Amino acid sequence: MTVPTTAIISDIHGNLEALQAVLADIKSRGITRIISLGDIIGYGPNPGACVDLVRQHCQWSLMGNHDFGVLYEPTNFNRAAESAAYWTRDQLDQEPDDAIRRARYEFLGKLRVRVVETCPDGQTALLAVHGSPRRPINEYIFPEDVTTAPDKLITIFERVPKICVVGHTHVPGVFTDEPDFYPPGELTDSTYLFNESEKAIINVGSVGQPRDMDPRASYVVLDERGVQFVRVPYDIEATVAKIRAVPQLPEQLAERLFEGR
Ligand code: ZN
Repeated sequence: MTVPTTAIISDIHGNLEALQAVLADIKSRGITRIISLGDIIGYGPNPGACVDLVRQHCQWSLMGNHDFGVLYEPTNFNRAAESAAYWTRDQLDQEPDDAIRRARYEFLGKLRVRVVETCPDGQTALLAVHGSPRRPINEYIFPEDVTTAPDKLITIFERVPKICVVGHTHVPGVFTDEPDFYPPGELTDSTYLFNESEKAIINVGSVGQPRDMDPRASYVVLDERGVQFVRVPYDIEATVAKIRAVPQLPEQLAERLFEGR
């Protein structure tokens, strides 16, 4: 691994307070390289501002299923997600500043679904997708797949060179090719160290809508030795108040932020 120290964020979902808290935490650690695994928008009340911050601070971002849903069409979305997607599109469309509106759409339209970073010697250092290496935008890799669908994981790991980073489920942790799953709480210092004998798929968790019963924003710091999971508290009340002020954003999208589910 010759990847420089990198903060990896994902699934911001238009939650500006969570994103600002995470960016401040990253800055306080002196980390200058940030990458995003997608779902910048959808669900949350500040899509435009979140796109702007990702454009400013991230070296690159992937396309998530919600970014795709807002840009093109929300397929296989539940009612809350679909309603939020159409509202999000209206918000981006209604931006009065022509240049800002066009810059946001241009940025979203160019997001990639898969990024491979290589070492100077040509070896793959990192594979990054929003969902899974098999279906980059839409496939979920759930912790319970380890016991209920081990064949699925084995097939997915065939496409993993060594280290793969994902988001999408909003549940942070490390999948190994055993297959096995380790939530951050089961790792020493919330850190997974890379080793010769193992491939790993790292789910970085969600900045703006965590679903592992910990409501704090989630991201990871990756360096050549391994990956550390980080949680950051943010002003959930403020985000929830904004969601509740928008009829098109259903109440369940507000409530879940308090519980992290
Ligand atoms: Zn998401």
